[in-house]
Amino acid sequence: MMKFADLIDENVEELAAIDTVDAGKLFSLGKAMDIPRAAEHLRYYAGAADKIHGETLKMSKELQGYTLREPVGVVGHIIPWNFPTSIFFMKVAPSLAAGCTMVVKPAEQTPLSALYYGHLAKQAGVPDGVLNVITGFGPTAGAAICSHMDVDEVSFTGSTEVGRLVMQAAAMSNLKPVSLELGGKSPVIIFDDADVDKAADLALLGVLYNKGEVCVAGSRVFVQEGIYDELVKKLSEKAKTWVVGDPFDPNVRQGPQASALNINILDESIELHLEFCVADVSQTQFDKILSYIEHGKREGATLLTGGRSCGEKGYYIEPTVFTNVTDNMLIARDEIFGPVMSLMKFKTVDEAIKRANETRYGLAAGIVTNNLNVANTVSRSIRAGIIWINCYFAFDVDCPYGGYKMSGFGRDLGMEALYKYLHVKSVVTPIYNSPW
Ligand code: ADP
Repeated sequence: MMKFADLIDENVEELAAIDTVDAGKLFSLGKAMDIPRAAEHLRYYAGAADKIHGETLKMSKELQGYTLREPVGVVGHIIPWNFPTSIFFMKVAPSLAAGCTMVVKPAEQTPLSALYYGHLAKQAGVPDGVLNVITGFGPTAGAAICSHMDVDEVSFTGSTEVGRLVMQAAAMSNLKPVSLELGGKSPVIIFDDADVDKAADLALLGVLYNKGEVCVAGSRVFVQEGIYDELVKKLSEKAKTWVVGDPFDPNVRQGPQASALNINILDESIELHLEFCVADVSQTQFDKILSYIEHGKREGATLLTGGRSCGEKGYYIEPTVFTNVTDNMLIARDEIFGPVMSLMKFKTVDEAIKRANETRYGLAAGIVTNNLNVANTVSRSIRAGIIWINCYFAFDVDCPYGGYKMSGFGRDLGMEALYKYLHVKSVVTPIYNSPW
């Protein structure tokens, strides 16, 4: 695993470029974050691999017992297209450390870096058959993993709709456990005492990072009434300076929606076949975002900035902020997975908590305040897997991450992720003169 990490470090530029071509992600961010963090994940879990312990049990009778943690077996990892590298390693690194073997299916839109990682794993000396990368479409290759009788667990990241299918297929086959990291509609709550300039930056980053194609995107922004007008003004100014364009350009902050090239590579033994995707997912994604924007306008929300595609060609969308959004509007309820913010005004802490929780999702939340009591109260009251106070997207390999409610269950990252791939076995023996 350490050698695997070193090989990633040696190929940072190339790997970042692959994800940029494949997913439209910013090359600068891939180079600075996604790829180096992949190596960091491998090193973190490599360090944990020889510290997997059970417990000695006291027991209530004349018995002695201990627990062992054993690898669950063959794990199926199903990866989405928005973070082809990060999510690959969130899943592969802990399961390798746990001693599992695995079949990894990258998204059909973004299979290239996963194939490269398969190659690097081989170079690093990961034994054949341990880390298997299989490209393919969801309803065929993905579904086959979920219903396979020899796959012992599935770790899935993707949409809530597909998460349901994954769980269903697992239940109908061998009852394999699944972990699901699904959609979100995360709130960012900004209180009156916040620094308006910083809060505007945080809120914009919260929804525009990776062009809004982030399951934890802070797409519902609640602003307390005292600073609402000032914040709206700041957001409007800042959103207009957000540069959209070529993801290889270091000045650009937002690339095209979904994958840029849409090439699917099927690696059949030695031959490489190039096959253009039948369905153009970027087009679908692009159309979906624009149609949500139209819906928002029709429902009566006010378009503060953006709202259109940009450029003559390519799937580029302007950073879009809606004000006067009400909680029941579609743009405030559905996961749009694009650069679209819904801004809402609130009066009291209790009101903010209640409205923030009025969603079927529960992945993340942001709180912006300097008031410790407010921060503590709100963070305990929001039903979501990760709460960021005065920050957003503050991920770390040591910090477990996953959903409440229809955002799924099970945790990636941290030691929780390692335990996800380990069974607990209890071993019991009688002690001398025991009646058992
Ligand atoms: P996204 O919203 O990221 O497009 P999807 O849930 O559609 O999310 O896809 C995430 C991953 O799930 C992809 O690798 C995709 O191929 C896979 N997938 C799609 N349909 C199924 C299915 N029926 N069974 C298993 N995996 C699937």
